[in-house]
Amino acid sequence: MKRIAMASLAAAFLCGLTLAQDMGGGMGAKPQEKACDVSKVETRDYCPTCKAWPASDQIEKGNCKTCKGKVEKAETCVKTCFTCKMHGAPARHSKDCCGAKGCCKEIPVLALVWYKCDACSAKARKETDVKHATETCAGKIAKTCEQSGTFPHGGEESK
Ligand SMILES: [Zn+2]
Ligand SMILES: [Zn+2]
Ligand SMILES: [Zn+2]
Ligand SMILES: [Zn+2]
Ligand SMILES: [Zn+2]
Repeated sequence: MKRIAMASLAAAFLCGLTLAQDMGGGMGAKPQEKACDVSKVETRDYCPTCKAWPASDQIEKGNCKTCKGKVEKAETCVKTCFTCKMHGAPARHSKDCCGAKGCCKEIPVLALVWYKCDACSAKARKETDVKHATETCAGKIAKTCEQSGTFPHGGEESK
């Protein structure tokens, strides 16, 4: 009796594992996390090789000075948060935490904008490039960002 229960438990566990894998490949955000509202979008210079937004003095004739690759214009979700040097942890926070002069610094946290179908999860960097999994897909395309669910792009502030 006990052995049977153990076996079915193991089967259920394995089943759960495959299920979790099938559900992967999303935006890296778990569904229960607060999604980014993508309230501020700017077109910024972006280097796809470095996966970074080089400053204008880091770009030479349209190429990234670091990798020599081509810099493109990318729709970028812009959020800011505070970070501070004095409290050890590099935790990002939403408010100036102690008010001490020169402690908390407001920093921009950039993330690429993606357009994603809410039904089939097809996604692309341009809304017109989204290719639905099926021709009959009636899903709506919503704007989201690469870091959606990770503070300050939605998500919860780490304590
Ligand atoms: Zn680069
Ligand atoms: Zn602080
Ligand atoms: Zn402080
Ligand atoms: Zn779709
Ligand atoms: Zn965002």
